[in-house]
Amino acid sequence: MKIGVLALQGDYLNHVAILNKLSVNPVLIRTPDDLDVDGMIIPGGESTTISLLLQSSGLYLPLRGLLNSGMAAFGTCAGMILLAKSVIDGRPDQVSFDAIDIVVRRNGFGRQVASFETELAVSGVGPMKAVFIRAPVVEKVSGEVEVLSSVNYSFPDSADRQVPVICRSGKVLVSSFHPELVGEDRLHRLFLERI
Ligand code: GLN
Repeated sequence: MKIGVLALQGDYLNHVAILNKLSVNPVLIRTPDDLDVDGMIIPGGESTTISLLLQSSGLYLPLRGLLNSGMAAFGTCAGMILLAKSVIDGRPDQVSFDAIDIVVRRNGFGRQVASFETELAVSGVGPMKAVFIRAPVVEKVSGEVEVLSSVNYSFPDSADRQVPVICRSGKVLVSSFHPELVGEDRLHRLFLERI
């Protein structure tokens, strides 16, 4: 099983460290020649920058083709944004892969509270510490998408809402937080199990 980690920008080395802990030695994906993999991770970072680099490296179209024909993927934070069907509050030229049927709002948790930490209940996994850093809000989930965990969040302009924070559809898993920053490997295991 060959696993790739998109290594254009962001915290990809933290994902490599978690995979190494699980005895997986991933390929760093930087050019279309690196795409001979069975599954890939898109790290946290800045989705607008990763989007620009995907286009300038020539990776965007071949990767989109692979993802749309069923390649396994796991995206955290910016990675969730890039795997989403559509993005609200992105840059006008920002691309996403449409690999999972969710709509996300970039930086949707707001400015003052842009970063927070909480403990989640994750279906089939148990309690999990989660670090949210300028995280996306999942605004809509459609089709086959399962929600494995949600947070109850008070937005300044509305009543409390349940916001999905881990979603899965087939072989595609996304989280709006960063398990890779706290040495959490259980979502990486879930991702690897489906390949
Ligand atoms: N706000 C960032 C973006 O738009 C995501 C932040 C993160 O990955 N921690 O891509």
